[in-house]
Amino acid sequence: MDMHSSQTWQKVGAAGILTVDLAALRRNYRRIADMVAPSQAGAVVKANAYGLGAEHVAQALFAEGCRTFFVAEYGEAVALRARLSRSAEIVVLNGLQPGAEADCAQRGIIPVLNSLEQTARWRSIATLCSDGLPALLQVDTGMARLGMSHAEAASLAANPGMLAGIRLRYIMSHLGCADETEHPHNHAQAQEMQRISALFPTIPLSFGNSGGSFLGEAFRGALVRPGIALYGGRSTDRPGDTVEPVVRVEGAIIQTRLVDDGTAVGYSASHTTTGKRRLATVSLGYADGILRALSNRGAFYAGAQRLPIVGRVSMDSTIIDITDLEGEDLKLGSLVEFIGPHQSLEAVAAWADTISWEVLTSLGARYQRHYI
Ligand SMILES: *Cc1c(COP(=O)(O)O)cnc(C)c1O
Repeated sequence: MDMHSSQTWQKVGAAGILTVDLAALRRNYRRIADMVAPSQAGAVVKANAYGLGAEHVAQALFAEGCRTFFVAEYGEAVALRARLSRSAEIVVLNGLQPGAEADCAQRGIIPVLNSLEQTARWRSIATLCSDGLPALLQVDTGMARLGMSHAEAASLAANPGMLAGIRLRYIMSHLGCADETEHPHNHAQAQEMQRISALFPTIPLSFGNSGGSFLGEAFRGALVRPGIALYGGRSTDRPGDTVEPVVRVEGAIIQTRLVDDGTAVGYSASHTTTGKRRLATVSLGYADGILRALSNRGAFYAGAQRLPIVGRVSMDSTIIDITDLEGEDLKLGSLVEFIGPHQSLEAVAAWADTISWEVLTSLGARYQRHYI
């Protein structure tokens, strides 16, 4: 990925450069698909593939053999449907929106049915189609977020007419603690999933996210739904469960200055210099995912040199202290690394006291995105 480090920001004209290594993405998919076989691996590409670009990501994963793509919102499914081969299936996790039924059926988008009410609305369209319509059925096994209760699932199993015309592809559920491998809630959810599965003995399961895929067979089902691990994020607390980095994020220097001892830096004057310092302003701010929690604690990198963030992160810029930089100085347009070989996605998340999922999905729309 070093090919872009010589690139200057003037040529690009964007806030910064976001480089997505599609080959690494494909290797991460391959690693997970091989690990979970004979289960299948889908891919979660919601929120614009966690900010990386849903179309590019989905096409690369399709080329690697992925055939099931999960989005959160119906609008995301419509946008992706127009860009992907008909042999790719697109599933909407957040359920069947009222009013979307006919459009959803006509476009061949597959809803997750999260309630009896959604099931009834899908059935009323499905019974009009000679071949019926496909759907996933989500059951809540311990998150209280989306999906029907055990009792509701049992009522469907006992009254198959409520599913008339609906081809149930998978019974799905989502793990709430899969990133903590020893968390007892994982086993409680797996047991509940087995009880739900017993209600629908002929329907395969879709269970694990990235963390669940690594946790083991009991947490996978026939189809896993990895997201973050495809994009290079750590999904569990076990050292061996690693994937390759996929994302590099760089900003450009837009001004440098020498300041005296006692200079107030940034909004709220939350930092004051000690001694003469050399400061640089970077073209990325919290609107570009340089989370405000990184004020006075995070850093950018020039090569291996850590350049600490001083003062508050602004909306469109961030001030860094470059006094300790050895060798060549930073000048207008020089690129500095936010995520890359010297500062991992996890390191940024840890400094910001958050998770890699939030760091990636906060990156925003102002980057020039490069796909290599
Ligand atoms: C977001 C999501 C996933 C992917 O989770 P990761 O932890 O990023 O792998 C899988 N399933 C559901 C239902 C989700 O909402």
